[in-house]
Amino acid sequence: MKAAYYNGNKEFKLTAGTEVAPGQGEVKIKVAYCGICGTDQHIFHGVMDKRVSIPQVIGHEASGVVVEIGSGVDNVKVGDKVVVRPLNWCGECPTCEAGNSHICTSLKFMGIDSIGAFQEYWTVKARILHKCPDNISLKTAALIEPLAVACHDLRRGRLKAGEYAVILGGGPIGLLIAMAAREAGAKVIISEINEYRLKLAVDMGFETFNPLQGDIKAHVMAATANTGADVVFEVTASAPGAAIMTELLRPRGRIVLVGIYSQPQTINLFNFFWKELEMIGARVYEPEDFDQAVKLTAEGKLPLEDIISGVYNLTEIQQAFESFEGNSTAMKVLVQCEQN
Ligand SMILES: [Zn+2]
Ligand SMILES: [Zn+2]
Repeated sequence: MKAAYYNGNKEFKLTAGTEVAPGQGEVKIKVAYCGICGTDQHIFHGVMDKRVSIPQVIGHEASGVVVEIGSGVDNVKVGDKVVVRPLNWCGECPTCEAGNSHICTSLKFMGIDSIGAFQEYWTVKARILHKCPDNISLKTAALIEPLAVACHDLRRGRLKAGEYAVILGGGPIGLLIAMAAREAGAKVIISEINEYRLKLAVDMGFETFNPLQGDIKAHVMAATANTGADVVFEVTASAPGAAIMTELLRPRGRIVLVGIYSQPQTINLFNFFWKELEMIGARVYEPEDFDQAVKLTAEGKLPLEDIISGVYNLTEIQQAFESFEGNSTAMKVLVQCEQN
């Protein structure tokens, strides 16, 4: 089988991979599609070389079909269409025992800390598979992992119908949060500075705002009878995002922190005191978030495919990653791992 190995220095090597027979509790899946995440782009740029074991197959936003099951597997069978929740938790630490295995203190993220999905076959634990109904295409199913991130963000933020949500950042995750929030009955505005991303959001029917061209606080206040937003989703991981997020909220409003900040930030803590704000961290997803993402996808009401900006064959994975370079308009790029 073919497998794409990240080789360091912005380079993939396509070579023969090793098919692994599923052991107890394991399943071999024929990978159909795997999306390229922002994290994968960070790996490509070499900033995560300490976490990956070069050369390594990466990739974690996978859809596929079960082709072989090991002993003791009863949640899926051969032929099932599945998506992978790419987490490996210890099951024994206090965090796992408290029921929060998705943030296990020794969590391993598959496709970063261990072998991933940019290959034809991937052997994984059965406990992380979620079945997809037949009406979901394998291509669309590759968006379920990032949609599960969005579902987790909404759930952490306790977003309700009728609430006003500001989404700072209109990349793939920001747009998926926007889609799920709109479907949940919330009023949504997306703040973004990239004109291409703004246009895409507008084409999807969202209200948008470019904070480089106007005062976003004034805009949000005018839209909420001078009260402020109920929830802000911070997805930019930028200093301006951290600086503005407390300004946009009503008293007792909530911030959901989605962006992955690598540096400490300046945040207006007086606003937390004065308005009794809440800030809620949101990292990856729990099983129910995947279930919700599968359900939303099966219902077909979200314009998920609109964020797919390119599909490349596994043999073209180098071009797929390079499509994000420079002044790129790439949003969600999928790699088709299934070879005909
Ligand atoms: Zn991802
Ligand atoms: Zn644990």
